Amino acid sequence: MKLVLIGPPGAGKGTQGQRLSRLLSYFHVSTGNLVRAHIQAWTELGREVEGYNRRGEFVPDEVVLEMVGPSLEPAGRWILDGYPRSEKQARSLDGALEKRGIRVSRAILLDAPDDVLVERIKGRRYSQATGWTYHLEHDPPPQPEQHLDPGPFVRREDDMPDVVRRQLELYHEETEPLRNYYGERGCLEVVDGTQSIADVTKDICAALGNPDKNNA
Ligand code: ADP
Repeated sequence: MKLVLIGPPGAGKGTQGQRLSRLLSYFHVSTGNLVRAHIQAWTELGREVEGYNRRGEFVPDEVVLEMVGPSLEPAGRWILDGYPRSEKQARSLDGALEKRGIRVSRAILLDAPDDVLVERIKGRRYSQATGWTYHLEHDPPPQPEQHLDPGPFVRREDDMPDVVRRQLELYHEETEPLRNYYGERGCLEVVDGTQSIADVTKDICAALGNPDKNNA
């Protein structure tokens, strides 16, 4: 299974990617986390992409493909989150996969209206230690005595309201057409992202043909 997870900012791609990696042993490839890790470590790549991230804009296609490429193992089970974000990127991804003799098996679109997303993003927290995503109300960061994630749990630079608005505009213009792109290829599954985190996971598992994981 080679999965891509698409959806607007705040729809739950990172959250579901991390849950699926634990539940079904998928390798979770998050371009957002890769970008943030490069910026945090202030690598050459991090310096190149910092401005795009701060403004809520897409990182250039070739840069993001260079970042994710090594993780897209032909023999592996992976879930790609945050890429592709445009039809152009979807075509370059298809090209890169074709060279490896593989293709996207399923594209899961997490759908949610803008007002739900804007509200959710206000409570999002990101662990600088693990890259995991939490929510103050819906998925709180663990307590120190649980020894699960030391944090610190911070607001992301791109979670500020004007950046989120820019990301949503870009989503509607550039990413939403992927619904048709993957629909035409017969591999699209649309999941209602407004449900609880656990219910979204159940729907994704059902769409993947893992009904035994319905008690996730
Ligand atoms: P994305 O990766 O699509 O931008 P995230 O996974 O970071 O979205 O989720 C955005 C925020 O909403 C996070 O704080 C996350 O914990 C929370 N969240 C994710 N899915 C749900 C859900 N189904 N219900 C409530 N909150 C959610």
